[in-house]
Amino acid sequence: MKKQRIAMPPQVEGIIERLRQAGFEAYAVGGCVRDTLLGREPGDWDITTSARPEAVKRLFRRTIDTGIQHGTVTILMDKSGYEVTTYRIDGEYEDGRHPKEVAFTSELLEDLRRRDFTINAMAYSHETGIVDAFDGMGDLNRRRIRCVGNAMERFGEDALRILRAIRFSAQLDFAVEEKTYEAISRIAPNLAKVSRERIQVELTKLLCSDHPEKIREVYETGISKYISPAFARLPWRDFQARKELGTEKYVRWASFLCLAGPERAAEVLKDLKLDNDTISKVRTLAAWAGREVRPEAAAVRRIMSGMAPEVWDALMELNGYGEEIKRLTEEIRARGDCLGLKQLAIDGRDLIAAGMQPGKELGQLLQKLLETVLECPQKNEKEILLAEAKNSNLLQSRQ
Ligand code: ATP
Ligand code: MG
Repeated sequence: MKKQRIAMPPQVEGIIERLRQAGFEAYAVGGCVRDTLLGREPGDWDITTSARPEAVKRLFRRTIDTGIQHGTVTILMDKSGYEVTTYRIDGEYEDGRHPKEVAFTSELLEDLRRRDFTINAMAYSHETGIVDAFDGMGDLNRRRIRCVGNAMERFGEDALRILRAIRFSAQLDFAVEEKTYEAISRIAPNLAKVSRERIQVELTKLLCSDHPEKIREVYETGISKYISPAFARLPWRDFQARKELGTEKYVRWASFLCLAGPERAAEVLKDLKLDNDTISKVRTLAAWAGREVRPEAAAVRRIMSGMAPEVWDALMELNGYGEEIKRLTEEIRARGDCLGLKQLAIDGRDLIAAGMQPGKELGQLLQKLLETVLECPQKNEKEILLAEAKNSNLLQSRQ
């Protein structure tokens, strides 16, 4: 046990200190220890303790029962939440995912042993330094992902771990240790029992990492077949990952799925229970992927009118549009050219006042006027558009 000092947020120091003064053991554990040792900013700080949840709740003023049956209580402090979990041993795994029961234990080591990878199984406190029972430090130095204990057994308990292995290897740019890697392919069929939401969380983290191209491992290890039929049918052979694009999840999913086309991309995302906003943005990007745009303001405005501004920015990156199109985009935005019905100088009420009946044709006429304005922005004035409307067959047919 090396006694190395790690900097922790004062709130975490305070929580650990409070628990220790009450006679319990307490440590920072898991991802936060791993990330700090790697010089990465931890996403959150988790604490593991010998105290039972009721005792934790008595010691702190503001707490939430996040997962009390699993021993987790969230402590609220300075607008952040810190998860404090009682040392535990996971019981039998029924569905390859949820432990049927958890048992609390008084031994830190038993709690560390249930964790997935050696680099995630280290604990730390100022008093003890790093507690590293499975050579997580060695694996951090060798830059590899290795299961705690026997890989087949550990993946057999919870098949989600096989995706976590690939996800961490993408986030940290680590290799997967040989036995761990072999076990991934052998356990892959068990992934059929894991919920698609959980799978999606791991795939999204993988795609949003510094090494989205490692999504290929999901195919090469044979996992893709067990995620969903649509996912298995993706054109893996032609696939290219683009890490120079933005890191928003819709951008990363689009760069991964665009070759599949909008319909199949949407099917994959629906299977994985992604939110509708992401699905609709990916669908738009996949529909436009690989298409040329004439470097003319009107052509650029027409495409821009069909998507949110950030989606157009992402499309320019995805398709590698050149300087000319970027310059036109800037000009269009700087001038505030009309790009949608909301910015049109005329609306439905104006047309009704001019003698048109409400209904479908009114919508069609507004759409036609928008197209006129996308072509010639200087026509976006009420009188001009009313005159255009009066000339159109649609309006005349009603008079
Ligand atoms: P992230 O940066 O994504 O939050 P993390 O390591 O904190 O990474 P979490 O999913 O937040 O990952 O889990 C916290 C810790 O709980 C892990 O470091 C690991 O020790 C343990 N853990 C999480 N999921 C599992 C699992 N499926 N099997 C075993 N241990 C797990
Ligand atoms: Mg975490």
